[in-house]
Amino acid sequence: MARNPKERVVSHPPLFTTFKPAGVIGDKLETIVLELDEYEAIRLADHEGFEHEQASEAMGISRSTFTRLVERARKKVASMLITGSKLTIGGGSIHFKENLYRCVECRHIFKASLHEEHEQCPLCHSSHLVNFARGFGHGRCCHERVQK
Ligand SMILES: [Zn+2]
Ligand SMILES: [Zn+2]
Repeated sequence: MARNPKERVVSHPPLFTTFKPAGVIGDKLETIVLELDEYEAIRLADHEGFEHEQASEAMGISRSTFTRLVERARKKVASMLITGSKLTIGGGSIHFKENLYRCVECRHIFKASLHEEHEQCPLCHSSHLVNFARGFGHGRCCHERVQK
């Protein structure tokens, strides 16, 4: 199935989904939600150092859309740093290109394609795995929508 242009491509799920200032009780804090496409924009532009042109292509959106997206994302992160809000990552109209798993036993983190589900850790063979894409409600949809 072809990808809806509103659905952005996110390389892989984030490893961390909640951030809060140390020493403050979490449930008293205002929560800012950084959507997965906003997270990906910051990762590409500010962590990987991609030009907006390159980053917009990776996400399957126009350069001007990318610029607006990364500006919105930076505002949210800045606001979290200054006001001491809690930040959670999730939501957004996205599909992942690749999945990540973490083994609960040996803590090994590994990449995996989205067309198959892994049942075992490749290192210790434990079946106690965390499937990150599934944690965000994704899986088969990503494999069907994101064409390489
Ligand atoms: Zn393992
Ligand atoms: Zn998906």
